[in-house]
Amino acid sequence: MGNAAYLNRVSALYGASRGRDYLPQNWRDRLPDPASYYAHHVAKLGKPNATGWAQGACPFHEDRNASLSVHVASVKGQWRCFASCGGGDLVGFHMKRTGLDFKAAVRDLIGLGVTR
Ligand SMILES: [Zn+2]
Repeated sequence: MGNAAYLNRVSALYGASRGRDYLPQNWRDRLPDPASYYAHHVAKLGKPNATGWAQGACPFHEDRNASLSVHVASVKGQWRCFASCGGGDLVGFHMKRTGLDFKAAVRDLIGLGVTR
């Protein structure tokens, strides 16, 4: 089963009664905690340093050097890869990881399911 087929099945399970573009006003408050999100999505994630940044293996390239930094101490959950995969916030990370557009990525993150 391809990724798109999988996502379609997931969205069928969760339902999407409010339409694909619907985002609740408080979606920012409902985003997952960056520390637990990145713990699930980043291999070899280390402990955060004094400023809240943790290093781990970048999922966007073949990474043997823990090139990815994620800011687990902030609600935005900024990330950056030192091997030129870019950077952004937690929503951007999820978009890049799943191939979803912004609204679909947010809906996925807050548990509303993905519709296309
Ligand atoms: Zn990278």
